[in-house]
Amino acid sequence: MRLDADILDASACVMLAEAAAQNVLSHEGAEMTERLLLNVLQALPEPVLVATLEQTICFANDSARATLVPSTRDDIVGSPLSSLVTSGSETFSDWLKKPLCSTSFVSEQFDFATCQGSKSFWIDACSIRDDMRAYLLIRLRAPDAQQSAVQSLAVRVDMLQQEIAMRRAAEARLQESLIELERAKKQLEQLATVDSLTGIPNRRSIDETLRREWSKAMRNGEPLAAIMVDIDHFKDYNDAYGHQAGDLCLKQVANAIRASLRRSTDFVGRYGGEEFLVLLENSDWEKAAKMAEKICEAVRELRIPHSASATAKVVTVSAGVNVTIPKPQSSIEKFIGDADAALYQAKRKGRKQFVLHQRAVKARLQRRKVRS
Ligand code: GH3
Ligand code: MG
Ligand code: MG
Repeated sequence: MRLDADILDASACVMLAEAAAQNVLSHEGAEMTERLLLNVLQALPEPVLVATLEQTICFANDSARATLVPSTRDDIVGSPLSSLVTSGSETFSDWLKKPLCSTSFVSEQFDFATCQGSKSFWIDACSIRDDMRAYLLIRLRAPDAQQSAVQSLAVRVDMLQQEIAMRRAAEARLQESLIELERAKKQLEQLATVDSLTGIPNRRSIDETLRREWSKAMRNGEPLAAIMVDIDHFKDYNDAYGHQAGDLCLKQVANAIRASLRRSTDFVGRYGGEEFLVLLENSDWEKAAKMAEKICEAVRELRIPHSASATAKVVTVSAGVNVTIPKPQSSIEKFIGDADAALYQAKRKGRKQFVLHQRAVKARLQRRKVRS
C-alpha cells in the first residue's frame, strides 16, 4: 500500500492506517500495521526521520531525502543525525536525549544542511517504541508551520503502536489456546482407548492393537499368541460381596495380569465384563503357555477371598491360549474364537487353569478316533 502525499494529509493517512489495522488480526496484522505506519510517515509532505537511540537514522521519508544533504554519505539512512546540522552538532545530540525523558514531543530550532544551503528548521522530536525498543521520531518544519500537527501525529503514532502491542498479545493468547486444545485432544484420545474402571486398554484399543500385531506377524512370518482370561464365578462374587467389591476385584485382577507381562510389546486389554485379552508378539506355544500359567498364579496369589466360589476359596481365573503364524487366508476372528474355545475348555475342565487351543484340537481329534 502506497499513500499519495499530494492527495492525503498526515492525519488522514494515520486514520486510514488505523482503519485498515482494525480489520486485520494476528501477527500479519501487527506487521501490516507497522508497514502502514511507515507508509504514513513516507506520505507526509514535510521531512520526517526515524532514528535509533544511538541517533543513527534508520528511516527517512522522501521529503527528508529530497531536502537534506548528509555530510559524509550519499544515503541519509545510516548517517548520524548530528551529521545533518550545520552548526552545534553536540548541542543537537544532547537535545535529542530530551524526548526520551518526556511523554510528549519537544521542539527546538536548528540549522540543517539542505540542497539550497544551510536552512533553519523547527525540529519536533518524540520517542516511539515497538515491542523491542525505542526510537526517535523527528519532524522538520519551516519556522512558520503549526506545531499541533506533530503533536497529534505523535499521539496517533502512539495509538498505532498500542494497537500493534495488543494484536501481538492477542496472538500469544491464541497460541496458548491452541496448545491447550491440543492437550485436551490428546486427553480425549487417551480416554477413548483406556478402560475407565481398570485403567488398561479398552476393547477399541484391543481391536486396533490386534489388527496391527496381526499384520506385523504376517509380514515377519512370526507367531502371534492370544490368551483369553476370564474370572471364575464372578457373578457369584458380585452376589456375595456386592458390585462395588466386584469392581475392586476387577481392578486388582487387571493389575495382576499387567504386572505379569514382561516385554514392552506384551499387551493386555479389557475384552469385556470380566474377560481380558493378552497379546504376545513373536511368542510360540511354550512361551504363551508359561505366560498363561504365570497369570493364573498371579491372580491366585492376590488371595482375594471368594466364599461363593465352587472352585477355590479365593478368586481364580481360567485362560484359553491360541498361537498362530498369520497367513493371508487366515482370519483374526477365528484366531480369537479359538482362544475363546480353549477358555471354554478350561472352564469345563474345572476352571482355575489354562488350556492350549492346540491341545483342545488334539483332544477332540483323539476323542473322534476313539469313537470311530
Ligand atoms: P464363569 O466362571 O463361568 O466365568 O462364571 P461367571 O459368573 O464369572 O460368568 P458369568 O458370565 O455368568 O458372569 C459374569 C459376571 O461379571 C456378570 C456380571 O455382573 C459381572 N460383571 C461384568 N462386568 C462387571 C463390572 O464392570 N463390574 C462388576 N462388579 N461386575 C461385572
Ligand atoms: Mg465371562
Ligand atoms: Mg467368568
